[in-house]
Amino acid sequence: MPQKPIFLTCAFLSLFGISLLADPGYQYSVDLTNVVHDRVQVTLTVPKMDQSTICFRFPKVIPGTYTTYDFGRVVQDLRAMDEEGRDLDVIRKDVNTWKIKDAKKLHSIQYWVDDTYDLTEGKAVSGMSGTNIEEGENFLLNGHGFFGYLDGCEEWPVQIDVLRPETFYGSSAYPKVETLGNRDRYQAPRYNYVVDMPIMYNQPDTATIRIGNTDVLISVHSPNHLVQADYLKEVYGRLLQSQSAYLGGELPVERYAFLMYFMSESLPIGTGALEHNYSSVYCLPEMDQEILSPFLVNIAAHEFFHILTPLQLHSREIHNFDFHDPDMSRHLWLYEGVTEYFAHHNQVRSGLISETEFLKRMAGKIQDSKTRYQDDLPFTKLSEECLGKYAHEYGNVYQKGALIAMCLDLELINWSDGEYRLIDLLGDLANMYGPQRPFRDRDLIGDIVHLTDARFQAFFNQFVTGHTPLDYAYFFNLAGVAYTPPSDTMVYSLGDVQLGMNQETGRLVVNGVYQLNEFGRALGYKEGDELVSIQGQPVPSSSFGPYFKGIFAQVKEGERFEVAVLRKQGGSAQEVRLVAPIRRVRQVLTPEVSFRDRASKRQTMNRNAWLKS
Ligand SMILES: [Zn+2]
Repeated sequence: MPQKPIFLTCAFLSLFGISLLADPGYQYSVDLTNVVHDRVQVTLTVPKMDQSTICFRFPKVIPGTYTTYDFGRVVQDLRAMDEEGRDLDVIRKDVNTWKIKDAKKLHSIQYWVDDTYDLTEGKAVSGMSGTNIEEGENFLLNGHGFFGYLDGCEEWPVQIDVLRPETFYGSSAYPKVETLGNRDRYQAPRYNYVVDMPIMYNQPDTATIRIGNTDVLISVHSPNHLVQADYLKEVYGRLLQSQSAYLGGELPVERYAFLMYFMSESLPIGTGALEHNYSSVYCLPEMDQEILSPFLVNIAAHEFFHILTPLQLHSREIHNFDFHDPDMSRHLWLYEGVTEYFAHHNQVRSGLISETEFLKRMAGKIQDSKTRYQDDLPFTKLSEECLGKYAHEYGNVYQKGALIAMCLDLELINWSDGEYRLIDLLGDLANMYGPQRPFRDRDLIGDIVHLTDARFQAFFNQFVTGHTPLDYAYFFNLAGVAYTPPSDTMVYSLGDVQLGMNQETGRLVVNGVYQLNEFGRALGYKEGDELVSIQGQPVPSSSFGPYFKGIFAQVKEGERFEVAVLRKQGGSAQEVRLVAPIRRVRQVLTPEVSFRDRASKRQTMNRNAWLKS
């Protein structure tokens, strides 16, 4: 049954201090009770300032996404006004920036926001990073899609009033400081926190768990009630217990919130999850919860472990995040790779999955990283240019990034005779730095070597900053695991496009284009495309195996290949023909990875230190 959570953390309230209440810099108000053409109105009141002009901005990029989204796209009819409500001159300088003249007189800014879920033009914003305005159903308030900031005033405190529909409840890791009637008030010490405090409003289906000293809120929006908060409470309860043990018996935050939006229809937006300091937001297809369960565990485990990195341990580029023109850190192997590795490693150590299953998952990552991505691309280069020329390599942070972490863990275990693991290194680095003390990007590897041994300089030179692919046979062998490198084969494919099913139309729909191979990129799929026919043969709504087998049996290398899709353009859907010469692409098969029957004493010791808690 839906229930309202009891979710207050007093220690956290005191962190914000009383002075905030006396001096709110940004005073925001958003009215969710008045939805007009799928938009809501936002009003901002600001204190007096001295500048003659000032820029009001929406973020171009937000931390954790490593993608340019341009949230200014959702803002319309922006007005800047003086105290008497007279309009000031405003020029829209670019998609995210409004230049306000006569800023000395500026008193308030008012605008309408649309949601990103319904954006039809430009790059789709992934559901977990975006915003939803669905009258009577759900409002997903990711702050960066509703609230902007004045250039140079990112340090001002922020107050946000939300006027909500009577029966709706606002779920967030950040407690409301006040509720009066249907007005909820939130406060934050500076603009960064606005991005960090997603709030979901809907008819509540929530559950709370207490793990040690941590209060965990689970809030679910599942239109057909296929996923329920009480079910997730069981599943996530077990997971969080194991994560707590992995972290030495305690979770490093006092509170946490899982905000889970399940889509009943297939929208052309990316699905997945995004991490924040005290919460994570999920946008996933609505399905039977028993079927979704293993996936929900993996994705929640990953997002939750982000509380270690980048949230507790990160570089200056992330700490002083420039929402308008960010520099990327070179250490995605750490932020995403280590996090993804821990998400699976903690499950094997706590017995949630078997050792064989763990090896199988790692083998899958090897296959994926070698099939879809450039294995000799230095990982630090990929990181630095993940918004630009290596955007299509980004997905490898979850594959090879995790494998770098695994190999580093094995090397640490072997070097320390099982006494020092990757989780210990992370702990030491977090103590050395911490949430308020970012490291310098170029210092990190030196610090790791300083904490450990000179041999780790060679590890990073070869496998992280260098071009050498990871030597899996060597690293697995440290723990008595036999590794047979994968062979590869040339296959025809649809271009490695990610497909889902639109239940309403019964058609296959493109719901991911970030892993396209060369052939897929040449065809030019877009998210949301619905497959109508391939080579003139209508795409069925089931029995895809024989259909695709039939198609590929008839093609020849270099021949014209045509995929007809329905593509939404300006409100209506039109049939578009995607054409490219078909070519085989290299597919790497899964490597064989298995425990050796006979392992040496050292191998057995390493294996135990690695996989048994
Ligand atoms: Zn992540």
